[in-house]
Amino acid sequence: MFITDLRSDTVTKPTPEMLQAMFAAQVGDDVYEEDPTINALEAKAAAMFGMEAGLFCPSGTMTNQIAIKVHTGPLTEVICDVTAHIYQYEGGGIASNSYASVALVNGLRGKMTPEQIEGNIRPDNLHHPITKLVALENTCNKGGGSYYTIDEIAAISKLCKRENLALHLDGARVFNALVASSEDAKNYGLYFDSISVCLSKGLGAPVGSVLLGSKDFIKKSRRVRKVFGGGMRQAGYLAAACIYALDNHIDRLAEDQRKAKQMEEVLLQTDYVESVLPVETNIVIFKLNSKYTDNSFLEALAKHNIRASGFGPGMIRFVTHLDITDEMQEHTLKVLKSL
Ligand SMILES: *Cc1c(COP(=O)(O)O)cnc(C)c1O
Repeated sequence: MFITDLRSDTVTKPTPEMLQAMFAAQVGDDVYEEDPTINALEAKAAAMFGMEAGLFCPSGTMTNQIAIKVHTGPLTEVICDVTAHIYQYEGGGIASNSYASVALVNGLRGKMTPEQIEGNIRPDNLHHPITKLVALENTCNKGGGSYYTIDEIAAISKLCKRENLALHLDGARVFNALVASSEDAKNYGLYFDSISVCLSKGLGAPVGSVLLGSKDFIKKSRRVRKVFGGGMRQAGYLAAACIYALDNHIDRLAEDQRKAKQMEEVLLQTDYVESVLPVETNIVIFKLNSKYTDNSFLEALAKHNIRASGFGPGMIRFVTHLDITDEMQEHTLKVLKSL
């Protein structure tokens, strides 16, 4: 019997073809910038997003935290949504790595408007921290996979340029947003000063994130990466999996999003769900009514070999990904109808 693991899109294992690409990788010492596969990945990802340069890192937490450290510093402040991964799920890293303060915005399902951002820019007054950075998340994990369109991003970028603020994107699932909106990654480079892209989420690589920005920004980031302990050596074996993922696993994200949408439709018809955050990509977050607690619901799913994440009291999260087969999907829909 199979296990259907909907806890996160990080749980995927490399496909046989991806493993083949890893075995075949040319490698070198990346601290000397001599790993040809890492160099190729960095250049490829930068070109896709219309950025000058890239930096391969072990995790999305590291790419985000490096970017924040390069853009900010003591006495400064970052503006982000209250649900942002950089604030909620990176261990307080903004404070401990960058000594920066955070202004939290109550956005709509993780998304901030230009007006909300503008309202949080500090006046030039010695009582306040100095606003330096705005950080967006696309898609928004805690927002249930909601996403910013390129027009919304352009409006925020315009404000940031006017106010001389850097704009960072936590693009852990940026390809889910691009596939859902049929938009081109190339335009992102016009609007962001830095972008973190995870290859280990829906794209299915075992390890790796890339930080993108200007040559100068990446030069500074490379130094911070070394200090954070992220200078890897013959990691081209990992970068080969990431290149394979970029070449082969982007378009298929539409399939994950179709499965998530089917789950939403079934959940809305059950007698145990109070509400579902509108499904826009591959994340399904829903609130249970009194029939189940989050724990009793997870136990009920576990009896059918389905794993999911509790997401706060009465809240459950499913994430679809490339290891969810059609058979698993059918099984899940059947179980959801039966609970
Ligand atoms: C997963 C994720 C990250 C990075 O997480 P790592 O596990 O450190 O790679 C960053 N932001 C968001 C929104 C994420 O979902």
